[in-house]
Amino acid sequence: MTFGKDTCSSCGKYTDITAKVLNGQETLYCKECQDKELKIMLENFNQIKFYCIKCGSSNVTKNDTKTGISLTDIPNAIYAKAFITCKDCDHRFFLKMEDQGKIN
Ligand SMILES: [Zn+2]
Ligand SMILES: [Zn+2]
Repeated sequence: MTFGKDTCSSCGKYTDITAKVLNGQETLYCKECQDKELKIMLENFNQIKFYCIKCGSSNVTKNDTKTGISLTDIPNAIYAKAFITCKDCDHRFFLKMEDQGKIN
């Protein structure tokens, strides 16, 4: 996916833009900055402690943790997603957390 050449909002280089996302205002990312941003979000997402929404247990595991940019919504948003499995009640949950940008 490419949006042509423009100035990357993150590194300031005039280069190929691979993502445009809502982050308070529209933010443009080059491939390098996009990968960096997604990697940071993945690390932070992995730090979050979740609880089972069925039984309240903290005995849950995260699987298939991924970050990406949704291209279906306008404007696009960065998201993190995972499957949560509860070891106590054996339920499975799909979780998606989307960056909605700064509150103005
Ligand atoms: Zn950049
Ligand atoms: Zn549970």
